[in-house]
Amino acid sequence: MSATGVASVRRLLRGTVAHVPRDPFTAAGEALEAWDDGGLALADDGTIAAVGAWRDLRAAYPAADVDDRSGAWLLPGFVDAHVHYPQVGVLGGLGPRLLEWLEGRTWPHEARFADAAFARAEARQFLRLLARNGTTSALVFGAHQAVAMEAFFHEAAASGLRVTAGLVVGDVGLPEALRTTPELAFEEAAFLARRWHGRGWLRYAVTPRFSVSSTAALLAACGAVAREVPGTWVTSHLNETPDEIAVVRARFPDQRDYLATYEAAGLVGPRSVFAHDVHPSDDELTRLAAAGARVAHCPSSNHALGSGLFPLARHRRAGVGVALGTDVGAGTSLSLLAEATSAYVGQMLLGADGERLTGARLLWLATAAGAHALGLGDLVGDLRPGRAADVVALRPPPGSTLAAALTHAADGPSALATLVTLAREDAVEATWVAGEAVWCAAAAERLVG
Ligand SMILES: [Zn+2]
Repeated sequence: MSATGVASVRRLLRGTVAHVPRDPFTAAGEALEAWDDGGLALADDGTIAAVGAWRDLRAAYPAADVDDRSGAWLLPGFVDAHVHYPQVGVLGGLGPRLLEWLEGRTWPHEARFADAAFARAEARQFLRLLARNGTTSALVFGAHQAVAMEAFFHEAAASGLRVTAGLVVGDVGLPEALRTTPELAFEEAAFLARRWHGRGWLRYAVTPRFSVSSTAALLAACGAVAREVPGTWVTSHLNETPDEIAVVRARFPDQRDYLATYEAAGLVGPRSVFAHDVHPSDDELTRLAAAGARVAHCPSSNHALGSGLFPLARHRRAGVGVALGTDVGAGTSLSLLAEATSAYVGQMLLGADGERLTGARLLWLATAAGAHALGLGDLVGDLRPGRAADVVALRPPPGSTLAAALTHAADGPSALATLVTLAREDAVEATWVAGEAVWCAAAAERLVG
């Protein structure tokens, strides 16, 4: 058992505990730590006071209340590094590739978020679904309308989740309803950033949609917002498909590549997260690493839109931090475990160029890697004492394929691989942020089901 030994402990969680406190791509030996009959001691201040074998925890804290989740797995809460709030309604759009999918299906739906009441209801549902999928921290790609983002931030504050998000802006190549101007983009984004950045667990992310829908002036306005409100994050899309890259090249003939369009506006730094980067040049990877910028890998979306197979090994060799994102509308679910399974499949299809992804590596990508990408690596991402108690409990539904497969798992690592492959939102029994429940399947059944 490891413990901080300082905080007062009133509650113990019991279950099968697993986390990956060291980078499993570089750590010597097994990076996974797991206890078949284990537990967590939760301190009153919302942190983890101790983690380890159940008998040791019980002996150390004999007076604490016990929340017995035996039969369930207790993992660090998942971190989604790229997920679009206004796109739950466009999930499942099979057929088109990226640019056609955006124009035909997604942008018309995103235009509906000009209605504040609609936006607020969608925000509430979206955030509830994140928690229901075990996600406790997320870098959320917002909506194009300031009223929709004001509604979103209100709901995010109430959700108890750790949310970073911002107004999406673009001034060209978009339907009229979604277009803004550099002046208005600056004004609205700076207003929202001043109002919400740093409030509770909320943070603001400066969010140009992508350079396909931006002029240099719009991107410069985004850079100005990031300077105006210090500490804000930056997120956008990068190198998703060859067609998209060609449009950016034509729009910015003076820039040497896609990344340079963001660099010119001061948008590439240690608080920047770019989604996709399926088709980067070596030079772009070198510059991303030098800037300390991160990439959100969204394999379900890349595979569904046929965008390509993500060069994870090239990113790692270049020193670019990679986390996972569900992307949602173009992806297949809000489940980081589904995303991890997709990442695994994508790397296998790359053959010799692919990374071999074990259960421990996949869990790390879904948790600690995301925490690092979001600048939360000292706070969440694993279950070490001192971390915030952001935890998800996964219980195999009785009679499910997951339950059947787990009975045959030979050891901890193979059980974890089975869990990653098969556990989805119906297995999420409860989700906590800083020790407070943000999702409880039993309560939800009583309340709404
Ligand atoms: Zn996206």
